[in-house]
Amino acid sequence: MSATRRPIVSGNWKMNLDHFEAIHAARSLGLRLTPRAAAAVDVTIHPPFTDLRSVQTVVEAEGIPVSLGAQNCAIEDAGAFTGEVSPRMLARLHVTSVIVGHSERRRLFGETDELVAAKASAVVRNGMIPVCCVGETEEEREAGAARDRLAAQLAPITSALGPAVTGTVVIAYEPVWAIGTGRAATPDDAQEACRWIRDLVRTASGDQAADTVRIQYGGSVSPANTSSLMAGEDVDGLLVGGASLDAAAFVDIVTAAA
Ligand code: PEP
Repeated sequence: MSATRRPIVSGNWKMNLDHFEAIHAARSLGLRLTPRAAAAVDVTIHPPFTDLRSVQTVVEAEGIPVSLGAQNCAIEDAGAFTGEVSPRMLARLHVTSVIVGHSERRRLFGETDELVAAKASAVVRNGMIPVCCVGETEEEREAGAARDRLAAQLAPITSALGPAVTGTVVIAYEPVWAIGTGRAATPDDAQEACRWIRDLVRTASGDQAADTVRIQYGGSVSPANTSSLMAGEDVDGLLVGGASLDAAAFVDIVTAAA
């Protein structure tokens, strides 16, 4: 956590909570989030697409201090793309950030590094912030190839966005082996990987972008490990999966990150 970059904690609900449950979850966050925590941290929630309109309405009507996010989007704004979700339409719903390149989308739906970069561009084109996920698998880590993998995933993104925009986005370091396993990276490993990502941004996009881009750690984050993970100088926030489904746990994470 640095003195100059504002922390950002994001809750990825994945394919959980229907729109009734989502309204309840958003209200639970509203009841628990203290003004002090909300003032110190950007908090985003990323419900399933089918929940977005309901959650947007409740968040805005009740002044709940969270920003609305999505979990994915198309690369086109409109057209004959059956089943896709337009980034332009997400922006119209007051979605402010979109996760792109989550490892589940890369692994289960074949998203390539280039497609992820195109999605990041589509998000930016529509005035939103991409949360660009990168991370190595366990095999890549054991083979000593983690750094190369991060570099390969990041290069198309920095190239597509350009230096000025790169400094405004969020990059989430999510080692695949830590997601949903209860086996978080150690604070030292998280810091080292986030530092490496910042170094890659510095080389590709310059000092200004490297000093302002916000880098999250994600993978089995819990209230118990938040403070130690956030202690890393280059760890600017957290991307939270499972624990974000429990409003009390998620607010504990936000509070500990504040
Ligand atoms: C995620 O899916 O982005 C994630 C980090 O999941 P979890 O917190 O459950 O490991």
